[in-house]
Amino acid sequence: MLQNKIQDYSTEVENIHLDTAEQVEAFRLRFLVNKGIIRSLFEEFKTVSQEEKRILGKVLNEFKQLAEEKFKVAQERIGLSNTDEKSANLADLSLPGEGFNLGSRHPLSLVRKEIVEIFKKLGFIVAEGPEIEDDWHNFSALNFPPEHPARDMQDTFFIKKQEGNDIALRTHTSSVQVRMMEKGQPPFRAIMPGRVYRNEAISARAHCFFHQVEGLYVDEGVSFADLKQTLFHFVQELYGAETKVRFRPSYFPFTEPSAEMDISCTICGGTGCAMCKHTGWVEILGCGMVDPNVLENCGIDSKKYTGFAFGMGIERITNLKYEIKDLRLFSENDVRFLKQFETEII
Ligand SMILES: [Zn+2]
Repeated sequence: MLQNKIQDYSTEVENIHLDTAEQVEAFRLRFLVNKGIIRSLFEEFKTVSQEEKRILGKVLNEFKQLAEEKFKVAQERIGLSNTDEKSANLADLSLPGEGFNLGSRHPLSLVRKEIVEIFKKLGFIVAEGPEIEDDWHNFSALNFPPEHPARDMQDTFFIKKQEGNDIALRTHTSSVQVRMMEKGQPPFRAIMPGRVYRNEAISARAHCFFHQVEGLYVDEGVSFADLKQTLFHFVQELYGAETKVRFRPSYFPFTEPSAEMDISCTICGGTGCAMCKHTGWVEILGCGMVDPNVLENCGIDSKKYTGFAFGMGIERITNLKYEIKDLRLFSENDVRFLKQFETEII
């Protein structure tokens, strides 16, 4: 009985034409799957007598090989991948597992996180805003005169020119400060981390986008002494207690007075090296007292309130921390570079 069945199926398999993917699949479903004919024949095989088993075992195995071979040859001929073999491999739990790499935090993310944590402890909240800005929030409200060079096409990526209020990619995160002040009344104490864009040629020292953290503190009686102490604390937390700071007078449209802050070179400790151009000092941020015009533009009474603001490039802070000399490394996604910061995962 079983022998006849095997004989009939063998004839069927020998004569069947497997010319299309559908025919091959139909064949697989009829003969080779778990509920297919071959499995059912083996089930039946279990029920026959010992004597029959001796004969039929060989016949049945030959039939199984015939069907499998037919399937394999047909698959290869019409270019199907050997899915059966693949699924068999998947089911084999004794095979070694496939390793996969976990990513690590980007150095810029690590440093941004560190900066944010320091200011958070001083009571600063984190504020965010859009990367596509209008002229008012990016320039006008911040006291940029119409002829200011930062408005030139060379520095700014304009998206849309429209009378009196161009749309552009923000050139600094100061626009977030404007948005924040417009929405409420002091006190404000916030930092604004984010990506900014400048229309510059990409080189080791310049890029068309980079990252900033800006800070703003507006309240009654805020003075330049508060600014100095806040930034001094920040630098000591970030680079160590032995780090010295100095302020140099500067100019920004949105602060008055304005200053640039230098720290003693973190690489050579102040004795002079290539990073500090042998001066012992490196500039890390710009800062100043918020210009009364800016406060008034945002609907804040400049007679009652004063404030300070500061801004730094995260790339620059990171360069000083890790001695990275080429800005382009930050955006190339080279795993050999990124992997060096794995141990810094917090
Ligand atoms: Zn140095």
